[in-house]
Amino acid sequence: MQERALIASIRHMAGHGPSALRVSIGDDCAVWRPGTGREIIVTTDQLAEGVHYPAANAPARLLGARLVGRGLSDIAAMGGEPRLAFLNVAWPTALPERWCLDFLRGFAAETRRWKTAWAGGDVSSISGPAVASITVIGEVPAGQALLRSGARPGDLLYVSGRLGAAALRNMRRITPRLALGQALRGRATACMDLSDGLSTDLHHLCKESGVGAVVEAPRIPVASTLDRALNWGEDYELLFTARPNTRIPTRLADVTITCIGRCTRRASGVRIEDADGRCGPLEPRGWQHLG
Ligand SMILES: [Mg+2]
Repeated sequence: MQERALIASIRHMAGHGPSALRVSIGDDCAVWRPGTGREIIVTTDQLAEGVHYPAANAPARLLGARLVGRGLSDIAAMGGEPRLAFLNVAWPTALPERWCLDFLRGFAAETRRWKTAWAGGDVSSISGPAVASITVIGEVPAGQALLRSGARPGDLLYVSGRLGAAALRNMRRITPRLALGQALRGRATACMDLSDGLSTDLHHLCKESGVGAVVEAPRIPVASTLDRALNWGEDYELLFTARPNTRIPTRLADVTITCIGRCTRRASGVRIEDADGRCGPLEPRGWQHLG
């Protein structure tokens, strides 16, 4: 598809989003002013053909929507509100026009769904497989962003929703837990979204916080099998910690919340306990970036 035709389509689709901008697409930069007393949060993510989805028969519209969902899930993990989304694509010229437009439609519809302005991006051709990347800018009340580093020994460990569902239906739309993340401001001590699998992501959180953890296997809200819940990834639920005296309801922002364990001293490592109370190391067996 021709670059000029693509850009014209993007301007048209992006023009129907929320008007969080002083200047719309067409200038060299997007101009945007966050509210007073707010901090800006930024995240970026990408989808590569052959890595994140198979080349053959890839559902374009769903992929465009999923790219938005992945970006917004990071904003949710920080307790933020998404404001602007930017899309960069590098597409082979042989990619059918219909596929490209469907991808853009999926992207546009999903940004509208989550009240995020599609504020710009870049289009180029590539001689290799297709790549698309999103950048999302959001905001959060100053000092209230949920970090991975705030957990302390004794904090309880929670997850939202059910884990391992992606193993049943990998190519589904992502529901970023935006309302939940915002509801956790002032309650959670640490938070992150589950993209690589609980076993791997819990190690990330523990490392950033300088704690260990014990997960009680029977408590994990499993969508299919325990192995998938621990290691499959692509859940896009939130993993968070809270002080033991902080009340965390079993349902928050329309999502089920489950306590799955607790944080310990760092020296105890990251462990998992079975129904009989036997405890062993929880190895990070989720998604490995860069092979
Ligand atoms: Mg993340």
